[in-house]
Amino acid sequence: GAVIGILGGGQLGRMLSVAAARLGYRTCIYDPAGNPPASHVANAHVKAGWDDVSALRDFAAGCDVITYEFENIPAEALDLIGAETPIYPGRKALEVSSDRLTEKRFLEGLGLAVAPHAPVQDARSLREAIAEIGSPAILKTRRLGYDGKGQARIDGPEAAEPALEELAGVPAILEGFVKFACEISVIAARGADGQVSCFDPGMNVHRNGILHQTTVPAPIASRLNTDAVILAGRILNALDYVGVLGVELFVTADGLVVNEIAPRVHNSGHWTQNGCAVDQFEQHIRAIAGWPLGDGSRHSDVVMENLIGDDIGRLPAMAAETSAALHLYGKAEARPGRKMGHVNRVTPMRKA
Ligand code: ATP
Ligand code: MG
Ligand code: MG
Repeated sequence: GAVIGILGGGQLGRMLSVAAARLGYRTCIYDPAGNPPASHVANAHVKAGWDDVSALRDFAAGCDVITYEFENIPAEALDLIGAETPIYPGRKALEVSSDRLTEKRFLEGLGLAVAPHAPVQDARSLREAIAEIGSPAILKTRRLGYDGKGQARIDGPEAAEPALEELAGVPAILEGFVKFACEISVIAARGADGQVSCFDPGMNVHRNGILHQTTVPAPIASRLNTDAVILAGRILNALDYVGVLGVELFVTADGLVVNEIAPRVHNSGHWTQNGCAVDQFEQHIRAIAGWPLGDGSRHSDVVMENLIGDDIGRLPAMAAETSAALHLYGKAEARPGRKMGHVNRVTPMRKA
């Protein structure tokens, strides 16, 4: 049967592998780590670095289509495998989303609202950025940040120097702090034929910069739900996108502000596993394999809770709960901040 290659073997790669297997595909994971979560369920695991030319070529040659579970794959690695085998979502989505500044400019180009921002590369540009944007603000590395890593809060000019020291010369962006009523996200899918389908927006609550909980339906005006879905569709079309995309949004008094986009399945879409006939993982596999998109309409209300670090100690109690669907990632060691699994608490859909 056909083989789907997945760059990155974390929990997202694991759940993609399970969905691919369900649709009759074989999966091959590429991940430098020795025992990543996806390697337990995939058909094969290439354990090699992102600079291993022959491993990358062999991997690509053995796959019919390739996708990824994180957006920071080195460009040279993408060039190598892309010359051999199609990669979805395509390069444009990766280029735009792997740099926070490029991403914000792309979104502004579509006429979408983003946080006030300025590039920062040294003490002087940071001082100017703080003067222009004001405080509170957040200094973020332009590349490679996730789960709030590589971010420092700037409450005033005096916070500039310590924040800069922490950055140690890495290109950054200063973002004005958006006063939001809540955060929502849209998990949006686009097929190879241009068909678009969005899952219902969920409301997200973060703790220490890490997603804690997603609730669907999001308790927001239906007009905002519609705005969010239309906005996500515009991003998909502008990127000529194939696959699932996560769009994180702030709900403000002036409407929706885009926080960031992720060209992959997304943690805030895990509720779809128990809230829809076709979840975000199957939807992604369908899209990259050239199938029609499936039915992503919601049949239940769901609250997804991430199990992070020691949360996993509550497993026995959660395993005994009714209407709680557990999803565990098979990680041996529970470290602080480490995503160990999630639980979807499902209830019948309430009429709007
Ligand atoms: P991930 O990719 O895991 O979602 P990340 O490291 O890319 O996280 P962000 O999404 O940029 O981080 O920020 C994490 C959280 O911090 C946001 O969901 C939001 O709660 C808060 N935050 C980030 N930027 C801003 C901002 N400009 N104004 C207000 N809150 C913000
Ligand atoms: Mg991010
Ligand atoms: Mg985020």
